[in-house]
Amino acid sequence: MTQRPPITHPDLLDTATVLIINAGSSSLKVKVLPQNHSFLIERIGQTPVGNSSLGEMDVSAVASHEDALLCCLQKLSEVLALSDIKAVGHRVVHGGKAANAQLIDDALIAHIEALVPFAPLHNPAHLEGIRVARRLLPDVAHVAVFDTSFHQTLPEKAHVYGLPYELYEQEGVRVYGFHGTSHDYVSRKAAQALNTPREHLKIVSLHLGNGSSAAAIMNGRSVDTSMGLTPLDGLLMGTRSGSIDPGALLYLLRQGYTTETLDALLNKQSGLNGVSGVSNDMRDLRNAANEGNHRAKLALDIFCYRIQKTIGAYAAAMSGLDLIIFTAGIGENDAHTRAQSLKPLRFLGVHIDETKNMTHQQTISTNNSPVTVMVIPTNEEKMIATETRVVGLGAVMQVG
Ligand code: ADP
Repeated sequence: MTQRPPITHPDLLDTATVLIINAGSSSLKVKVLPQNHSFLIERIGQTPVGNSSLGEMDVSAVASHEDALLCCLQKLSEVLALSDIKAVGHRVVHGGKAANAQLIDDALIAHIEALVPFAPLHNPAHLEGIRVARRLLPDVAHVAVFDTSFHQTLPEKAHVYGLPYELYEQEGVRVYGFHGTSHDYVSRKAAQALNTPREHLKIVSLHLGNGSSAAAIMNGRSVDTSMGLTPLDGLLMGTRSGSIDPGALLYLLRQGYTTETLDALLNKQSGLNGVSGVSNDMRDLRNAANEGNHRAKLALDIFCYRIQKTIGAYAAAMSGLDLIIFTAGIGENDAHTRAQSLKPLRFLGVHIDETKNMTHQQTISTNNSPVTVMVIPTNEEKMIATETRVVGLGAVMQVG
């Protein structure tokens, strides 16, 4: 894979304009930083709908990702010369063993392609986004930033499964972990806010959105995480099951489930939605639970219980705990989830200030709590932009 280019004009590069692309199977999300222009086109190939921070976009003729990107660039050119774009950063969910963001070349594309079996919903869409963007913006560096990279520091005992070792060595069946860009970003921001080097803190970071994951961060590195080979493992999620006895899957296969129906069951019909039968959305579940819906309350209980257990496990894994961080849609906005998962952890030194929690203060632990608890809004695009400037332009790593 291509090495980072030499540093050229470091003082100019921290603020260079970069385009961030997050391509899904039928959607395209584009962000332009530092200007903060954003575009979202969904239902590509069906009845496209578009949204832009720059006002209305006509997306009626958008039939492909290429049309979608062209549409965004056209709108963008109303406020910015496209030649001002100095690099393009691509969010890629599965990067396998890539330990850092990488400059995109043919070898890296082959690497992302080889990982499609591990991320069949995500990597093909990212490849399409890369192909189209390289064609439309051929003169700038394109950088892939992987959700998995931050977790490449997991020690062997945390990333090797209890399967025959050959599956690990020959097929790469192991824990990769996801949401790495977010865990990296919020842990840097929290350490900055505390004025303490991240390397000095034992941190549990909780990214709680539609997909949810936890990371244990020690000496500035990820040392354990709840998602695995794929983003299915660990915490309960909106529609994903999280951890489950692998024997249950064998049972279901014997009952007649196929790979496809099992995939849909675990990825789309389970989690908060499957348990409650109400919704995958935390706000709907809270309303239903408040009205006395038992299954909605149960789904919330399982959700919080897994967070509680994971914090305990990671405190044990790191032989200590200094800081817990909540982020993403639920982590940033749902004070009840934070309170319910943390209240049983007083024995670990986690003391919550209820008023600070209910009013979503940045620090929600009491002043004398041995463990600090913070709510830090995630900003994956900002982190991707920073990595893109570092790898694509030679800027110095600085998360402001
Ligand atoms: P994604 O993984 O799709 O990026 P998000 O990080 O946007 O997801 O999180 C979506 C989740 O956040 C949903 O369950 C939603 O209900 C929840 N959420 C968003 N805002 C609030 C809020 N004000 N209160 C409680 N939950 C919220």
